[in-house]
Amino acid sequence: MGETYSWHPEFDIAGALWPRARNVLPDELLSSWLIRNAFAHGCSPMSLTGSLWPSWRCWTVDLDRGLSTQQMSPLARLSGVSDEHISLCTLQPISHVLNPGIGTTKGVWPWILTRGFSNRRPIGGLQCCPFCFSEGVPYYRISSRLAWHTCCEKHLSALIDSCPACGASLQPHMLEQEGPDCGHCHRCKKRLDAEIGGLGFAAGALAFQRAADDALRGKGREGAFSCDPYDWFYRARFVLGILRVSATSGSKTFLAFRRIFNIGAVARPISGLPLEMLPVRDRMDLLAAAWKIMETGEGQIEEAILASSIPRKSLMVPAGEITVRVKSLLDRLPVGATRKRSSPGERSPASKRTVEKLWARLKRKVWRDG
Ligand SMILES: [Zn+2]
Ligand SMILES: [Zn+2]
Repeated sequence: MGETYSWHPEFDIAGALWPRARNVLPDELLSSWLIRNAFAHGCSPMSLTGSLWPSWRCWTVDLDRGLSTQQMSPLARLSGVSDEHISLCTLQPISHVLNPGIGTTKGVWPWILTRGFSNRRPIGGLQCCPFCFSEGVPYYRISSRLAWHTCCEKHLSALIDSCPACGASLQPHMLEQEGPDCGHCHRCKKRLDAEIGGLGFAAGALAFQRAADDALRGKGREGAFSCDPYDWFYRARFVLGILRVSATSGSKTFLAFRRIFNIGAVARPISGLPLEMLPVRDRMDLLAAAWKIMETGEGQIEEAILASSIPRKSLMVPAGEITVRVKSLLDRLPVGATRKRSSPGERSPASKRTVEKLWARLKRKVWRDG
């Protein structure tokens, strides 16, 4: 068993007005803590938050992204946990490092798993380790929302983001108050640790996860120098972009690039969705392949891209402020030919791949609607 990284310690309550207020458990996510408080008081999560914020339907938005001062105030007063500590249970401290200046609660936040709300219902599930759930009070951690987390370091197993029994995405806020805790599926009511199997993990994905956790804490190294967290994660997105393009391109340049790192065919997520919307298994495959490249260091990656002569136009440049190193690399690459697009009248029937992608997205919609 390995050691897990800690995002925040346990926070005790002090002077709570809720009679059965619960402590915030180590690394606990804001929404998880609210859900456990609701169950402690014998009501549903929606009833608790309805009385807390009567004019705010908080479960129709991603409340883990943070609370306003007006929203924070009644929660801190009733729960007996300070504003400062509640903020540490949100995704804001991490996102401020990864996405400085994002300044909005809308859209996809890079590296933060999206809940993908549609018609006010979340699409994406939270992720968790069912073995951790079986060992004590089940609760969802900050890592439930981090796109680079796919494994439990303690149990050396893959995380789950859907019910092993019925396949529903994990939406604990939809549990009824009769549900004893967060460790059950809201749809079939079974315990999430009841049918554990097939949770093998990819060692490369776990190595990526550990390196990313270190980078976030400013412990990333580039040779003899420490690496800025934003730069590390930007480079990782750049590498993932190369792999995503490589998975769909049969060009010799990408093949040559993969050969340098001894990477075979890259699995293509059928849905074609961005990393922040992919299920655990799809992300695990991508991150394991990305680690083979990332572990060699920035200099080696640049040399490999230049040696492969990948055209600049073939690369996906991540959103956000481009880092100096990536900008410098792009400037040294051949521009590449512009793709000739066929006119609308020349369109061929949808390919098998396109149909599979549409089917995968349709299934995601069906799971969401339960
Ligand atoms: Zn675990
Ligand atoms: Zn289920």
